[in-house]
Amino acid sequence: MTIAQKLSFDVQLSDHARTAAEREQVLANPGFGQVFTDHMISIDYTEGQGWHDARLMPYGPLSLDPATSVFHYAQELFEGLKAYRQVTGSIVMFRPYANAGRFNRSAARMAMPELPEETFVESLELLVETDRQWVPTTEGHSLYLRPFMIATQAGLGVNYPSKTYKYMAIASPAASYFTGGIKPVSVWLSTEYTRAAPGGTGFAKCGGNYAAAFVAQREAVEHGCDQVVWLDSGAHEYVEEMGGMNLFFVFGNKLVTPSLTGTLLPGITRDSILELAGDLGLETEERLISVDEWQSGCESGELTEVFACGTAAVITPVGSVKGADRAWTIADGTPGPVTMRVREELVGIQYGARPDTHNWVHKIV
Ligand SMILES: *Cc1c(COP(=O)(O)O)cnc(C)c1O
Repeated sequence: MTIAQKLSFDVQLSDHARTAAEREQVLANPGFGQVFTDHMISIDYTEGQGWHDARLMPYGPLSLDPATSVFHYAQELFEGLKAYRQVTGSIVMFRPYANAGRFNRSAARMAMPELPEETFVESLELLVETDRQWVPTTEGHSLYLRPFMIATQAGLGVNYPSKTYKYMAIASPAASYFTGGIKPVSVWLSTEYTRAAPGGTGFAKCGGNYAAAFVAQREAVEHGCDQVVWLDSGAHEYVEEMGGMNLFFVFGNKLVTPSLTGTLLPGITRDSILELAGDLGLETEERLISVDEWQSGCESGELTEVFACGTAAVITPVGSVKGADRAWTIADGTPGPVTMRVREELVGIQYGARPDTHNWVHKIV
């Protein structure tokens, strides 16, 4: 799409928006992803015509034919990012163009149309600006943004991708992931299930990856663990991710993270930490890391901390590991100093308490 074809959004404001008192009640205890703001974004795509009917409209249910492709063949993808109220009062997003780029790389893998990056970012600006009173003022809280795209063609033919699509964005106030201090999680090494295999959709942020993961997450809980750790699909030897988050291993002054082999989701938090590390005087390395190295490193004391990272929880320390035939703890099982330092720096940039030296903060209002 050229600039001349740039979409303009039709704005239809809700006539049943919640009152200030109702909103304040939600914002006092928002939880995560349970309550949504008063508006949403919708843009339609038709093969041959491109993107059209861009609009901001009241939040509400969709009406779709039961034969709609997304229900049967899961041609769907999504993104996740946050709007923050900074210490100055400005409302900002963190690296929205990074999400726009990843959205389109996911779209290419899922045989779905790309959305111009500007349109992706503009749609979120419009939603956040309209619903700006939903951006929490409480420290550590944020407005979680969920852009997504679904295949909307009705019909059960499986040989071709849908000819029509709908892009949408919704927003939900989110509490800090950790209430009452940062608690390390326990993890289960899944050897029965894998999240992604070479040539598959592991690098794409698509719902199908999550659908296939629930059974392993349930298995982790059955083994008394909080989260599942995914290993490579071949020998179950190398560490890939933790649930829906990327992993970092701290060897003294060095951060090691599994390389992006195509089966890992390239997290924007992961990427930001790799860039920030230098500012903090830390070295970084992207390479394969095996379960054996993880265990022996903890036993020898060389591997001092492990943490997971992602937009929703920012940084989560990992305290202990359990697998079918082994179990160990990481250092003394409490959050380590490098983990907490990286977290403080990243959160500081997001909320404006620290200088945005990498130009990651995108101001909305
Ligand atoms: C979204 C996601 C992540 C984290 O990505 P961020 O951009 O840092 O939020 C990691 N792993 C999986 C499987 C994900 O879906």
